[in-house]
Amino acid sequence: AELKTPLPHAAGSLADTYGDFQRLVQPYIAGNIHPRFMGWVQGGGNPVGVLAEMLAATLNANLGGRDHAPIEVEREVIRWSAEMLGFPTTTTGVLVTGTSVANLIALLVARTQAMGAGVRKEGLAGHKLVAYTSPATHNCVLRAMDMAGLGTQALRLIPLDEHHKISLVELAAAVRRDREAGLQPFLVIGTAGTVDTGAVDDLTGIARFCQQESLWFHVDAAFGALAMLSPAQRPLLAGIEAADSVAFDFHKWAQVPYDAGCVLVRDGVKHAAAFATHVNYLHRETRGLAAGHPWPTDYGPDLSRGFRALKVWMTFKVYGADKLGQIVAQCCDLAQRLAARVEREPELELLSAVTLNVVCFRFTASSQELDRLNTDIAIDLQESGIAVPSTTKVDGKQAIRAAIVNHRTTAEDIDILLDAVIAAGRRLDGYTSTGNRLNPATADEPQ
Ligand SMILES: *Cc1c(COP(=O)(O)O)cnc(C)c1O
Repeated sequence: AELKTPLPHAAGSLADTYGDFQRLVQPYIAGNIHPRFMGWVQGGGNPVGVLAEMLAATLNANLGGRDHAPIEVEREVIRWSAEMLGFPTTTTGVLVTGTSVANLIALLVARTQAMGAGVRKEGLAGHKLVAYTSPATHNCVLRAMDMAGLGTQALRLIPLDEHHKISLVELAAAVRRDREAGLQPFLVIGTAGTVDTGAVDDLTGIARFCQQESLWFHVDAAFGALAMLSPAQRPLLAGIEAADSVAFDFHKWAQVPYDAGCVLVRDGVKHAAAFATHVNYLHRETRGLAAGHPWPTDYGPDLSRGFRALKVWMTFKVYGADKLGQIVAQCCDLAQRLAARVEREPELELLSAVTLNVVCFRFTASSQELDRLNTDIAIDLQESGIAVPSTTKVDGKQAIRAAIVNHRTTAEDIDILLDAVIAAGRRLDGYTSTGNRLNPATADEPQ
């Protein structure tokens, strides 16, 4: 309520405004800089990124295009990204808000390849395109189908196999069926690190299939991509280097402050074919500020763009890719520790195998309806401020979900989370910590 004021017409004092920030904003953040924030998949940020954001704001660079050093920094970040993923030197890319937009851009490139450049003029009328992914796909992939005008119905959700990976047998059958029905399969989207369980699709298998069937192979590697920097996890992503495009975030596992997502396209000519246009007021020259063709605006929907690349560039230069890889490994080790303790605790149940950094489990020692109870446990922990897990469904069961992304998280944080889950489960179930049932009327009181 205090934030709601009329438009401030008169000048105010910077000191008072900073005071308002400290009083009204800073204490009430979601908390993803905290080591026990494990909800959704959110990065922890880093101090070099803080400095980079201030430097970027000072330069106030506009990276839509033109010939200046900030654009070269972004190109360097794209080259590093291509190197990280094993992509060739033909790769182009662009930094965007996040993987949601990066997935949309890749989908539009694939669409233009499938329908020809004419689609950009003529539109999609009567299109027969069909895309394929698994039900574990992120919702932004459905939104991308919607926003690209293809419709979410044109996205086939191929069932998962027993390892929570897209079933290649079902994928092949669906593509065959759609071709027989006169439709035009054009795109398969693999996931490297699903939001629900952190599972990684068989990227090599999908790549081979897409090659045989002449389909575009895109990988949503929003957080998973950074596992390429960890020798222990890298083999899980085998096949990503064969993708036509990859979308991922620096603001998750690379610890870069929000927002910083990235799309890479293996064949830069195809990338530009989906976005480049010519208008007189953005005409390119070979000298002067209008040089430096192609421009980032040729690779995505934005014209004016901020200097996101600086915080990525500085984070990699100061900490080094090896250190970021060690953080990935550390998060995965902590996830294994969490899973092992869940399996030791008789009141808890592990709901899926741990591939990377996501652990899904639930409190089961209760006579209550478990889906509701586990939702309430997660909310209680969030409100308590002790730790932040989120929730999801795994095989139809409501799971408490911890995604360990933050470089500050330690083994002690894992133990505090689990102790708090067990305590909340017992309390919400009406038991004291010694296992005695409380009077339901007093069950809500603090112990
Ligand atoms: C986080 C995430 C997204 C969305 O990325 P944003 O950066 O939030 O736009 C997409 N896919 C997966 C697998 C994710 O984890």
